[in-house]
Amino acid sequence: MGDAATKQQQLDELKAQIEAANVTPGLKAQATQLVFGDGNLAADIVFIGEAPGKNEDLQGIPFVGAAGKFLNEMLEMIDLKRTDIYITNIVKYRPPNNRDPLPDEKSAFLPYLQQQLDIIDPKLIVTLGRHSMDVLLPGLKISQVHGQPKRYHGRVYLPLFHPAAALYNGGMRQTLIDDFALIPAILQKI
Ligand code: URA
Repeated sequence: MGDAATKQQQLDELKAQIEAANVTPGLKAQATQLVFGDGNLAADIVFIGEAPGKNEDLQGIPFVGAAGKFLNEMLEMIDLKRTDIYITNIVKYRPPNNRDPLPDEKSAFLPYLQQQLDIIDPKLIVTLGRHSMDVLLPGLKISQVHGQPKRYHGRVYLPLFHPAAALYNGGMRQTLIDDFALIPAILQKI
């Protein structure tokens, strides 16, 4: 859908809409800023996490803390850089003390996430953790479907474990690395 300048303009408008609509006013009041998304607007892959943490809230950019560093390492493993992909979260304000986002907070942001995906129009959507998977691929269990591409409503999704959850859990960490390594072949088949 459109060239980079058009996409940037559409995304700027979407960001302004979220601010104007006062989505999740409780989170907004406690957050430093809206963390909208970052990366390449022509990306084949969009990664979707849960919600900003402390560093993301301060910098206004998703995945800049420890989980982001691990994510960057896995991207490198498949010859990709952060500038090759686009990355965002389902919930775009930091939940207090990094608590899990609530169901109504996720559903409040879902229509905006869907528009964001429509604008970028990637080939593959990688969900990181169960929160972004739950809203985009309802009814699945991450322990059962991680690493398996899913076609749903005309899009291809790959549910993966969240890098923050996998960071300090040896078994999950290796599973996430193994699943990540499948990305190039999945992309090639789409
Ligand atoms: N974890 C997330 O889910 N998103 C971020 O932006 C950072 C950490």
